[in-house]
Amino acid sequence: MIVLGIESSCDETGVAIYDTDKGLVTHTLYTQMALHAEYGGVVPELASRDHIRKLTPLIQQTLKQANLDQSNLNGIAYTAGPGLIGALLAGASVARSMAFALNIPAVGVHHMEGHLLAPMLEQQQPQFPFICLLVSGGHSMIIRVDGIGRYKLLGDTLDDAAGEAFDKTAKLLGLGYPGGPKVSNLALQGNPDRYKFPRPMIDRPGLDMSFSGLKTYTLNTWNQAKKDNDATEQTKADICRAFEMAVADTLRIKCKRALEQENLNRLVVSGGVSANREIRYQLDKLMQQRKGEAFYPRLEFCTDNGAMIAYAGAQRLLAGQSQDLNFATTPRWSLEELPAV
Ligand code: ATP
Ligand code: MG
Ligand code: FE
Repeated sequence: MIVLGIESSCDETGVAIYDTDKGLVTHTLYTQMALHAEYGGVVPELASRDHIRKLTPLIQQTLKQANLDQSNLNGIAYTAGPGLIGALLAGASVARSMAFALNIPAVGVHHMEGHLLAPMLEQQQPQFPFICLLVSGGHSMIIRVDGIGRYKLLGDTLDDAAGEAFDKTAKLLGLGYPGGPKVSNLALQGNPDRYKFPRPMIDRPGLDMSFSGLKTYTLNTWNQAKKDNDATEQTKADICRAFEMAVADTLRIKCKRALEQENLNRLVVSGGVSANREIRYQLDKLMQQRKGEAFYPRLEFCTDNGAMIAYAGAQRLLAGQSQDLNFATTPRWSLEELPAV
């Protein structure tokens, strides 16, 4: 079965073709990052318009790259939520119209299920069951995964998502958008012993997380440095380092707790923040100590992409799940509501 995948939930237009016999065939991505950078964050209406402009050319380019024609497609998968309503509608209407014209099934995919299953696009696939740490721009969740569509939410963030905390910290320090890669790169030059940031919620039982306090801690530390006439690039780097270590440490402690609680030894880490070097280092160390395994998507599939949507949609289409023409998008959508495959 050859499936076209379309992602348009936020500021990336992603298109991919997944073959259920041969794996990922090809994918393309257009990022709107530059468009939104001058506003310091995503402007929803600009995002929708840009998806509309880019979707058709990207789909044509993707088919060409794969040496395929529309008539070779057996199904279409598109992101149906959660995300920005206008951006979702742009992708959904193109996907549904194509499926109608070609008389093939279409399936609306949960964006976070796409992220969660992204490591399945790699050679070394994790076996079920496993613990998934899903850390992205809008979510920070710890999930027990027993199969596709069999998700149990064990922990969530009480305030900011991990990626949001990186983005806000970067903004405070004047590093620009999106913040994750910028904070992480500057942290490389930071002194790990200069500041010690708190590890939020680790002395409380449970698997919930909280990251908004770290952002305040960054602000206070930076303001103090300004008062002390020490607002240098080195100080910025030292703050980035302390911030990143605090996030990584917190995630490691929460993952350890989840694995112990569920008596599992496989960890899947996905979403944009799973690209982070320090976080991967800490979680690899944890899994080595436990003699377990850690799985991640390749770097380009940590953030939004069409490949993860094509993969997740293909699994559901294989299981006979698709939706009729009266499509809907779902800007807010819980993972636990999904049907099992
Ligand atoms: P969601 O998937 O929750 O709807 P999103 O699609 O905006 O949100 P993703 O595309 O998965 O999120 O990831 C983007 C986020 O990942 C941003 O917050 C970005 O700062 C963060 N990020 C990207 N690379 C890194 C990195 N190397 N270190 C830390 N954070 C990173
Ligand atoms: Mg993005
Ligand atoms: Fe995402």
